[in-house]
Amino acid sequence: MKKIQMVDLQGQYAKIKSVINPSIDDILNSAAYINGPKVHEFQNNLEDYLGVKHVIPCANGTDALQIAMMGLGLEQGDEVITADFTFAATVEVIALLKLTPVLVDVDPVNFNIDVDAIKKAITPKTKAIVPVHLFGLAANMDEIMALAEEHNLYVIEDNAQGIGADYTHSDGSKTKTGVIGHVASTSFFPSKNLGCYGDGGAIFTNDDDLAHTIRGIVNHGMYERYHHDVVGVNSRLDSIQAAVLDAKLPHLDTYNNTRRNAARKYNQAFKDHPKITVPSGRDTCQGICDTCDCHVFHQYTLNLKDVDRDALVKHLNEKGIPCGVYYPIPLHKQRAYEDDRYNEADFPVTNSLVKSVISLPMHTELDDEQIDFIASAVLGFINSNV
Ligand SMILES: *Cc1c(COP(=O)(O)O)cnc(C)c1O
Repeated sequence: MKKIQMVDLQGQYAKIKSVINPSIDDILNSAAYINGPKVHEFQNNLEDYLGVKHVIPCANGTDALQIAMMGLGLEQGDEVITADFTFAATVEVIALLKLTPVLVDVDPVNFNIDVDAIKKAITPKTKAIVPVHLFGLAANMDEIMALAEEHNLYVIEDNAQGIGADYTHSDGSKTKTGVIGHVASTSFFPSKNLGCYGDGGAIFTNDDDLAHTIRGIVNHGMYERYHHDVVGVNSRLDSIQAAVLDAKLPHLDTYNNTRRNAARKYNQAFKDHPKITVPSGRDTCQGICDTCDCHVFHQYTLNLKDVDRDALVKHLNEKGIPCGVYYPIPLHKQRAYEDDRYNEADFPVTNSLVKSVISLPMHTELDDEQIDFIASAVLGFINSNV
């Protein structure tokens, strides 16, 4: 059996090396290292893939979030609501911009931001909601967009973990995640579903004016060379990373299908176990049926009941199986983001999930033998520790 990895980037690279290497060579020879034609080519191809008017590449997913918020003109003191159970980048940029982060609890079934919790957190100072499509599953966008419209709020989708996922609206129509809110961000960090070989990110929007504003912000606030109209940042996707991404984009749907197939096999092994809850899709399916495409399994995360998780992690590691705990601490309990406004009673789900979730290896190169081995190791431990 091949060595099991949490993410197997070498295996994936080996299969597309013959496309990527010459493309990187072209960039090296062209010397168009920054803002070269390849960046624009990738930008156009991603716009077509997503069905969005504007993709603005930038240096990483954290910058993308920050720039989206700057583009919307959010100001000091504005409240921005986001999920307590996610990667810290989301709350970090809110705080960096001197906006006020308002963390709310998540849904116990799909782990995404809880719409009722958002409703409770809205005040006259609220300006935006940042849903995160956590682990590759779309948040409840119809309800979030309706709530935003009612209260005149912006919606910024953090699509770092959800690229390629479809969201099925209540009328049955489908949209890619990242194209539903007013603006969205994504990350091309190597382990993301569409990853480059360094740092990268992008902002998406259908709003022409916002896109124009953002194109200036990513480039030192310049709309005309050496005229700085607004305070901007320096955040660019370099041409070599664009070459990698442009070579991988045509494979994104296949990559996400491969992840779904792996999830389906894991689900088979774990379903109906009284101590294990497999990942949920939205409402109608588990995100793995042939028609919905609603989950892209950036992570495959189990929710355990009455299992000593630390001992399970140790057991798996001893068998050569890496695993992860995403995320071990609620953001509202992180020292940087503690705030008197929070009340523990408002976070029952996050406070519980941080103790009971475990993410198993999930990537495009997992084979059946590895999945069987991982599933047997998990079940062996849980069934022998009653
Ligand atoms: C990875 C990630 C980010 C940050 O992306 P970087 O490219 O690492 O800056 C932001 N939000 C979420 C949910 C992420 O998973």
